[in-house]
Amino acid sequence: MNSKDYQAWVTEPASGGGSRKFPGLRRTRSLTMNASRAPGLALGLAGEAGEVADVIKKGIRDHNTLGFDFNQAALLLELGDVLWYLVGLADSFGWTLEDIMQANFDKIESRRAQKAGA
Ligand SMILES: [Mg+2]
Repeated sequence: MNSKDYQAWVTEPASGGGSRKFPGLRRTRSLTMNASRAPGLALGLAGEAGEVADVIKKGIRDHNTLGFDFNQAALLLELGDVLWYLVGLADSFGWTLEDIMQANFDKIESRRAQKAGA
């Protein structure tokens, strides 16, 4: 699956509990993306980012280390939840994942160029 297919899946209205474009993928609830959904999506994104941190915290707590001894399968799933909300939030403003990647790339490269020139 590429980012465009993923965004289409996240944002397409559900029909009968399944995805029209991706029948093998099941939706759990109907979504109609627009800017009025942004606050809920932003809060969902923050909550899922907290769940990512919680996976790492539990690794540190349970193994008393700052290494990589944490539940990587759980981390993968939580990062997917972050992506779901991120893509939904971006779509509510008409942006694609590519738009976000390009804007971030441009911002970071601009900072690097400023540092190099300083
Ligand atoms: Mg989660």
